[in-house]
Amino acid sequence: MRRLVRLMALATFLAPASADAELSATVQKPSVDVYSQPSFEAPRLKTLQRGEAVTVAAQLGLWYQLPMRPAATGYVRVNDLRLVASGSADGGENLRVLMGEKAGRGRVTETAGVRGIEESDLKSAPLNQAQLDAMVGQRVDAAAAASYAAAHGWQATSLGYAAEPQPAKSGATASRPTVTRSDAVRAVGGLLGSLGSNLGSKLTSSEKVIPKGQGELAAEELALGPEIIGRILGARPLWGDADAQRHVNLVGRWVASQTSRPELPWTFGVIDTPEVNAFAAPGGYVLVTRGMYELLSNDGELAAVLGHEVGHCVQRDHYNVIYKQEMAATGKQFAMSRTGLTTGSEAADFARRYAEENGATIMLTSLDREAEYRADEASQYYLARSGLNPLALYSVMQKLAALGPESTGLAQLYRTHPPFDARIDRLDQRGDGPLAPYTQRD
Ligand SMILES: [Zn+2]
Repeated sequence: MRRLVRLMALATFLAPASADAELSATVQKPSVDVYSQPSFEAPRLKTLQRGEAVTVAAQLGLWYQLPMRPAATGYVRVNDLRLVASGSADGGENLRVLMGEKAGRGRVTETAGVRGIEESDLKSAPLNQAQLDAMVGQRVDAAAAASYAAAHGWQATSLGYAAEPQPAKSGATASRPTVTRSDAVRAVGGLLGSLGSNLGSKLTSSEKVIPKGQGELAAEELALGPEIIGRILGARPLWGDADAQRHVNLVGRWVASQTSRPELPWTFGVIDTPEVNAFAAPGGYVLVTRGMYELLSNDGELAAVLGHEVGHCVQRDHYNVIYKQEMAATGKQFAMSRTGLTTGSEAADFARRYAEENGATIMLTSLDREAEYRADEASQYYLARSGLNPLALYSVMQKLAALGPESTGLAQLYRTHPPFDARIDRLDQRGDGPLAPYTQRD
């Protein structure tokens, strides 16, 4: 009951913010209950049927506020409806509905006419060491993130999921695994299999390739991360808002602590560009743009965006693409792997050579769709484990979808990711499953 009173107070406070603006939506589920307050404990006003057209007057956490005729206000969950995308270049009117006063006060940048980061920027940008040092300097440790979480009442829960990647345990450079030839052949098969390619056919026994053990893979990832992220920072610097930088590190590190790779040197930052995007470089380095950061309404939505990127790092998605590109280019394993075993400095040499040649263009390379859907799934499980609500990913995607594919600020995100409606479809098809109890949270 106390919770309901608190929500009612919130609702009263926020409701008038955008009473004049409305956003179109359709009912997504066979039937949807409309509550008189943003709470499952509140009385039900009516039931909507699939396909019904409704209007949304505001977003309140994980609820949409619906104007009900003649004069009542109703609430449905963010995954009960599908918002209709804006057809304009900045999605401004939809944003004003979803962001309320935050958008009205101009905290959300108008993105019309924004020139996003392009491949040519990332190819030519030099590594900005001062910016990279600044980003590494704002890293927080797991304990600091845990106390931030405790202060917000987020309790970690363990919740397994079938598709979770489980990298073999090993220190990155602490010890070199002993690799026998038959282990080697199996490992190559496994890695290539996970890349979904037919590159295995290029490997003949005459090449005498000894593949990398997990420790060596980690050494390359760790070396690639700063080389790539330092070049993104060479193209666009960190945003000068110290609170925002600390905020993404606290929330991001808390989410990363709930993954199967908590030991990576997780480092987060916000770069100063109004376009809406996020980047995950190998080894635990994540950047979001100021445009993305300003679109997010709360810590849950921030954790959802960071969780998707963290998922790419955990799953080694970009590293795998780099590996595949190098294999395709050379027909053999990476330079350091020719001899089988890699030292940290060999990995560093490789990473530098790779980045000098390619810059950070890997960040604008599309992954395969399944990798994106897996990152979305991972994000939802990380949210649940972090003490947050997995539907936060849903509300972010609805917001980005509502901005519309015409939105200039989203151009690169649309270029590199499946459309948001396809991603939301996938969330719906997968269903809540084991996440169901966690979707009831505030
Ligand atoms: Zn992605």
